[in-house]
Amino acid sequence: MGKRRKSLCPEFLRKGKMKKKELEKFEALLLEKRKKLISEMGHLKKAALETTPKDSAGDISSYSYHMADQGTDTMEREKAFLLASKDGRLLYHIDEALRRIKDKTYGECLECGKPISRARLEAVPHARLCINCKEKEEKEKLKQGQ
Ligand SMILES: [Zn+2]
Repeated sequence: MGKRRKSLCPEFLRKGKMKKKELEKFEALLLEKRKKLISEMGHLKKAALETTPKDSAGDISSYSYHMADQGTDTMEREKAFLLASKDGRLLYHIDEALRRIKDKTYGECLECGKPISRARLEAVPHARLCINCKEKEEKEKLKQGQ
């Protein structure tokens, strides 16, 4: 405690060293967000399940043939559907952020490794990039997309 090691710059010491209390705060924030998102996704999930039989192009025989696999099929389709949706991607990012909290790497930019500002994390707790890298990514996307 209070030991001074001048060979390490303060920036390095700060990097990724989020206090346990802070990690817990963001974890609670993420879990809250996750709960809300999942309840909002409830109706989406139902819609995905209801449209499933139509996907087999009306071929009843092949449909019933696959009945045995129905359980996993439906789950896979559901997962794919949810991941393809905006909410599904958000859920994915929230889960990833929760995983980073467990790994204690939460709060570091995945691109440059610098700490993401607290203000940014409070606004976007699942943020995986610092504001600079995020802006760079947005610009890249624009270049590729249009
Ligand atoms: Zn960065």
